[in-house]
Amino acid sequence: MPRPAFQLYNTMTRAVGPIVPLDPAGKRVTLYVCGPTIYDYAHIGNFRTYVAGDLLRRALKHFDYQVDHVMQFTDVDDKTIRGSREKNLPLREYTAIYREAFLKDAKELNIQVAERTPNATEHIPAMIALIQKLVDKKAAYVSDDGSVYFRINAFPKYGCLCHLDLANLMTGARVSQDEYEKEGVGDFVLWKKWVAADGDVGWDSPWGKGRPGWHIECSALSMEHLGSQIDIHGGGTDLRFPHHENEIAQSEAATGLPFVRHWFHVEHLLVDGQKMSKSLRNMYTVRDVLQRGYSGRELRYALLSGANYAKNLNFTWQGMDDARTALARIDEWHKRIKAAATGATAADESAASLNLFQSIDEAIAQDLNINDLLGTLFTWIRTSNKALDEGTLTPPQALAYLQAWDRLDAILGLGEVAVAIPPEVQTLIDERAAARQAKNFAKSDELRKAIEALGWKVKDTAKGQELSKS
Ligand code: AMP
Ligand code: ZN
Repeated sequence: MPRPAFQLYNTMTRAVGPIVPLDPAGKRVTLYVCGPTIYDYAHIGNFRTYVAGDLLRRALKHFDYQVDHVMQFTDVDDKTIRGSREKNLPLREYTAIYREAFLKDAKELNIQVAERTPNATEHIPAMIALIQKLVDKKAAYVSDDGSVYFRINAFPKYGCLCHLDLANLMTGARVSQDEYEKEGVGDFVLWKKWVAADGDVGWDSPWGKGRPGWHIECSALSMEHLGSQIDIHGGGTDLRFPHHENEIAQSEAATGLPFVRHWFHVEHLLVDGQKMSKSLRNMYTVRDVLQRGYSGRELRYALLSGANYAKNLNFTWQGMDDARTALARIDEWHKRIKAAATGATAADESAASLNLFQSIDEAIAQDLNINDLLGTLFTWIRTSNKALDEGTLTPPQALAYLQAWDRLDAILGLGEVAVAIPPEVQTLIDERAAARQAKNFAKSDELRKAIEALGWKVKDTAKGQELSKS
C-alpha cells in the first residue's frame, strides 16, 4: 500500500497541505525555527514550541526526508545587553550561560538539536550586507537618529502572513507620523544606532556604530545557511506578527523570491489556564519541573500529548502525574512485548501486523495528529496485552509490535530509559540473589522491604529479579 503524503497546516494559506520541497529531487527539506533569546533560562512554554518543532523534524525524517534544520540563538538585544551589564559580564560570556542551559534543557527533553545553531552575533556582516541591499533598493532608509528602518510601503504584500490590511496600517502611519523618527508607524528597525546604554556592545557599519534589529537576524541567518528560499519556517504563534511578517518583507524585498513555502506556528502553553507571567508566579523552567521530582521525559510527554501543536495546551501538575502514569503503562507494556518476542526470527507479516505501521503513517501524516498517534499506541497496548493474557500472541506477532513501537518512538522520542540503579540498591539486590540461592526466604523478604524503603520495587521472574522504580 502506498504511504500517505505528509500534510501540514500552513499559516500562510490557512490550509492543510502537502510539503513540496524546493529540492528538485524532493528529498531535502530546509527547516528554520526561530531560536530563543538567551538572556535567562527558557520556560516550559518556550519548550512547548521546541518540542513541537522536534516532533515536526522527526515526522519529516519518518517520511524519509533529509532535514536541514537551523535555529539561531538571539544573543544581542535590549534584554541580553541589560542582563550582561547588570551582571558585569561581557555579552558573550553572559549569553553563553543561557545558551548552554538551553542546550542542556533541550537534551533533558530529548529534543534533537538542529544541524546548525549559530549565535546571531557570529553573522553581523551578513546582516549588514542584507540591510545594505535593502537600502540600495530603497526598501530601507536611514532615519535622522542614524538607525536604519524598513519601509513597509515599499512592500505591497506586507501583512500577507497575518492577512492584515496594509491600507489601514498606512492610515495609522499618516496620523502618527510626527511622533516618529521613522516615516511610518509600521516601519521597523533593521539597524539600531549605538546608545550609551549599549555599553561596549556595537559593530561598525556603513551607518555608524550600532547593532542589528531582531527581525533581520532570522532573515540573514536563514539565507546564509539555507539559501534565499526555504521549505518550512516555524516558531511560537506570537512570532507571526510582527516578527515573521517582517522577515517576509525584508527577505522578499531583497531577493524578489518567495521566502518560505510553509509556515508552522505553535500555539501557546498556558499554566492552570492562564498566560505564564512572573507576577502570577506560574512561569516554570525545565529545572523547576525537574526539581519537583519529575523527569525530562515526563515533561516531554506532557508537552507533546496534551493537545495538537496548533491548539493551546494547558499545563497542570495533574497533567505531569498523568504523564507519569501513561509512561509507566507504556514501559510496562514494552517490557512485556519484548519478552514475548523472544525467539522470533522475523516479524509477522499478516495484514493485522502490517496495519500497525500504516496506522502510524496515517496519524502523523495528518498535520502531526498526536491524539491519533497516542490513541493508536494505547489501542496496541490494550489489544496485545489482552492477547498476551489469553496466550494467543505469537512471538512473530510480538516482534511486529516491537518493531512498530520502535518506528513510532523515533517520532515521539520517549524511549525506554535505562534507569541507573543506585549502588546501595544494587548491593541489596545482590544480597537478595544470594539469599534466594540459599533458599533463605525470610532474609529475601527482609531485603525486599529494604529495597522498597529506598523507593524501588522488585519482582521475581523466571529470568531473575526485575527492578523498577516504585
Ligand atoms: P523568545 O525567547 O521569547 O524569542 O521565545 C522563544 C520561542 O518560544 C518563540 O518561538 C516563542 O514564540 C515561543 N513561546 C513564547 N512563549 C510561549 C508559550 N507560552 N507557549 C509556547 N511557545 C512560546
Ligand atoms: Zn525569527
